[in-house]
Order: sequence, then structure tokens, then C-alpha cells
Amino acid sequence: MPSLVIPSDLLPADGRFGCGPSKVRAEQLAHLAAEGPELIGTSHRQAPVKNLVGRVRSGLADLFALPAGYEVVLGNGGSTAFWDAAASGLIERRAQLCSFGEFGQKFAIEAGAPWLEAPDVRRAAPGSRSAPEPVEGVDVYAWPHNETSTGVMAPVTRVTGDDGALTVIDATSAAGGVEVDPTQFDVYYFAPQKNFASDGGIWFALFSPAAIERVERIAAGDRYIPEFLSLKNAIDNSRLNQTLNTPAIGTLLLLESQLEWMNESGGLTWADARTRESSSVLYDWAARTEVAMPFVAEPADRSQVVVTIDFDESTDAARISSILRENGVVDTEPYRKLGRNQLRIATFTAIDPDDVRALTACLDHVLERMG
Ligand SMILES: *Cc1c(COP(=O)(O)O)cnc(C)c1O
Repeated sequence: MPSLVIPSDLLPADGRFGCGPSKVRAEQLAHLAAEGPELIGTSHRQAPVKNLVGRVRSGLADLFALPAGYEVVLGNGGSTAFWDAAASGLIERRAQLCSFGEFGQKFAIEAGAPWLEAPDVRRAAPGSRSAPEPVEGVDVYAWPHNETSTGVMAPVTRVTGDDGALTVIDATSAAGGVEVDPTQFDVYYFAPQKNFASDGGIWFALFSPAAIERVERIAAGDRYIPEFLSLKNAIDNSRLNQTLNTPAIGTLLLLESQLEWMNESGGLTWADARTRESSSVLYDWAARTEVAMPFVAEPADRSQVVVTIDFDESTDAARISSILRENGVVDTEPYRKLGRNQLRIATFTAIDPDDVRALTACLDHVLERMG
């Protein structure tokens, strides 16, 4: 029995508000149940699974309206594996990284690999952001499109530095929920357990021709690159709709269904409008709620897919999260290492704006009674 019962007519239809893994729609699970029996448990080297990979790759190319020459590349291991792959085979000598939260910081650490020059790391305090700046000798400029640990969103605008320098974006929590112009990046990488409402353990990356050329040049050189981290290998396999080692077929089916839904509903423009609507509901709620305020001070930096709301000392945010959880509304806790009196709420594409409105009614109900 919850310590505080939220009336069922206030509760959202779906109570999953986590930032990843995140809400999977019932239609995706139905797709898994319908298509799974033919595919799950069969070889990923045969046509049925390769065709599934092909449909996912073309679904992504459609969603992002990829220009000619851009390719959809995939490999196992999630975005964390991609950082090591990028340090191994994408950064030539030196990277510049904007680090304004946990995820940006993690890539900055990987870009400090001993075979590279010390990276140029532009740090900013959590809740704010740093911006890239052209510097001679830098061949990769990298930052997160959306810093999931803090709810800060950054523009994706190509950096014009040295000839051939690449713009590489961690889009793990932005991709599929935020509009982006592919001509502004060379690599846009993500894992599908956030806006794509699938499971983790795999990465996808949209590569420009310049980025492919970079990978091929480094691979042809004498740097030692472990097979599992080889982007050259990932590109070659992706062109055949394969991965180096066995992928999770269920993950691909969930992703396929989400891509179909997004592309049929109006694509990235539609998804962008939907996440804007959901996040505005929460930012407006924070503005009119005396004890709450958005963590990100600069309105232009506030994320439309991960909303972070601070509470003043009178109100214990952890208690709110725990009451919500007891009522089936889960994963509103802040990023664990941030250590703030905060709620963090995903407003990913799968999450219904009406459920976000219901969540604010639940919050009002809980706040009135918490005392
Ligand atoms: C979730 C997340 C990651 C980590 O993704 P994994 O697939 O778990 O490795 C990296 N970057 C950002 C911005 C994220 O939100």
C-alpha cells in the first residue's frame, strides 16, 4: 500500500518516465510478438535478419533525410562502445570535446587515449554548457546534442576549423526526438533505448562521406585497432546489413516498429513538435509551482527530451519520486551522480504529452499532501 495514494483518475496511462531504458510502446511489443517467431532464433547471416537490418538502416536514412553519400553504420556495444571505437579509428591526432555532464565527460576521458594528443576539453558546470571553438590541430569536434545527466541541449552546428576536421555528435538521447540538419554533422551516433524506445547494447551512427574517408585512412595506417572497435569493419559489415558479431534481434524488431511509427506520423518534424509539447508542459508547471524551478537556468539550453526540475529545501524531491514510484509512476529520480534535490523526467517521442499533463496533476496532488 503506497504511503500516499494518488487517485487512479489522475495517473498517466503509462507511468514510465525514465531516460533510458525508456518507455516501449505496446505496439512495439505487439510487433515483436508478431514478427519475432519468424526471426528470433534464426541466423543473423541469412536473408530474413539481414533484411530486418536493412529495413532499420533505410528507416533511419528516411527519418533523418540523409543526403547522398551519408551511410547508416551499426555495431554492438551501445554508445559507450562507440566512444572507444571513435578514439581508435575516428580521431586522427587530437579532439576537442565539450564536457558539461557525465556523458560528455566520459567521451572526453576516452579521447585521452595514449596514442592521441591530449584532448582540448571545454568544461562547463552541470546545468550550463560549453561551446566548441575552432583550434588549429584539432581534427574532431565532439559534444552531446543532449546531455542526459543534466537536461542541457546544445545546437548541432558544424565547426569550421582545420581542413577536414569532423563534427561528431553524441545523439544518444536526442536522436529521434529532436530535429537536426545532417549537413551540420559528420557523425551522429546513438543507441536505441531512448527516443527509439528499444533496448540497449547496440550503436547506430550516421556517417558523412568525409567521416567514412577518415575511418578508411586511419584503418589503412599502422595504428593497432582491436577488431571489435574497428569502425572500418563496422562500415564494411553495415553495407552488407550485418554486424561483426551477433546482434540482439528483438532490439532490432522494437526499433523497426518505432521507426515505422515515427516515419508514418510525420517524421522528425512531428517528433520534434511532440517532445517540445511534452517538455513545455513540465517547464510551465515548474514556472507556476512555487517550490519548483527548472535546473537549467538558460531557457535556450533547456532540453526538450530530458526535463530536470529542482526543488527548494522545503520539499524533498526523493520523497516525491518514491511516492510516484509506489503509485506506478517510475524513474523520475535525478541522475545518480548529480546529487541534486531534483526530478528528471524524460519527454521522449514515445511518451504521450497527455501522460505528461497527467504527471503534473499527480505532482500537484503529491505536493499538496506531502506537507
Ligand atoms: C545513455 C547515453 C549514453 C550511454 O549509452 P549506452 O548505450 O548505455 O552506452 C551516452 N551518451 C548519452 C548522451 C546518453 O544519454
